Amino acid sequence: MESGARDKVPFDIEAVLGRIRQEVRGFADAAMFALAAQGHATLFEQLVACILSIRTRDEVSLPTSLALLRRASTPEAMSRLTPEEIEALIAPVTFPEPKARQIHALATRTVEEFGGRLPEDAAVLQSFRGVGPKCAHLSLGVACGHEAISVDIHVHRVTNRWGYVRTRSPEQTLKALELHLPRAYWIEINRLLVPFGKHVCTGSRPLCSRCPVRTMCQQVGVSHPR
Ligand code: SF4
Repeated sequence: MESGARDKVPFDIEAVLGRIRQEVRGFADAAMFALAAQGHATLFEQLVACILSIRTRDEVSLPTSLALLRRASTPEAMSRLTPEEIEALIAPVTFPEPKARQIHALATRTVEEFGGRLPEDAAVLQSFRGVGPKCAHLSLGVACGHEAISVDIHVHRVTNRWGYVRTRSPEQTLKALELHLPRAYWIEINRLLVPFGKHVCTGSRPLCSRCPVRTMCQQVGVSHPR
C-alpha cells in the first residue's frame, strides 16, 4: 500500500542521508570513488575517469579507467601516448575517439601550461574540452577534498522526488543544493545518491515499498512505484 500524505513526517536531511548511508552499504561505490579506493586518487586521474564515465555505465567505465591508468597515470605519461593509442585503450566507452582527443589534450596542456600538475580550480578544469561542472566538482571533491556538490542525473532525480528541491535541470539542482544542503554533505551526496538512484530510487518504477526514507519523501512525480 502506498503511503499517503498523512503518513509523512517532516523531512530531515541528516536522517535521510543517514538511512541511505546504511542502505547503500552493500552496493558498489560510484566509479570515481571506487577508483580512488584502488589508489587512483589524483586530480588528473579523477578527471580522466570522469571524462570516460560520461554517458557510460560504471560497469564499463571503471575497468576501462583502470586499464588506461595502469598504462599512463600521470599527465607526462599520458601525453606521451598518441590519441590513437588512448582511443584503443578506451574503446569500450561511448565516444572513444573524441574522449581520447580530450584526454590527450588535457595531459599535454597540463604538462605544458601547468608544469604537470592540475590547478585545484573548478574554472580552470572546466576550460578543458569535455569537462563540465559535474566532472570538475566531483574530481575536486574526491581528489582534493574540496567542498563541491556534483549533480548527475541520479542526484537531480532523487532530490526532486524528495521535494527537497524543485528544479528542471541538474544545473538548477546544483544551485538549489548549494543554497540548502549543509556543507558537510556536499561531497557525500553524490557518493550516496548514485548507488541509491541505481538500485532503489530508480528512473522508472522506484522501489518505494522498501525505501528507508519513504516517510519523509514527498514522492514528487512518482506515479508507478514498486
Ligand atoms: S524510492 Fe520512492 S520513497 Fe524512496 S526516495 Fe525514491 S521516490 Fe522517495
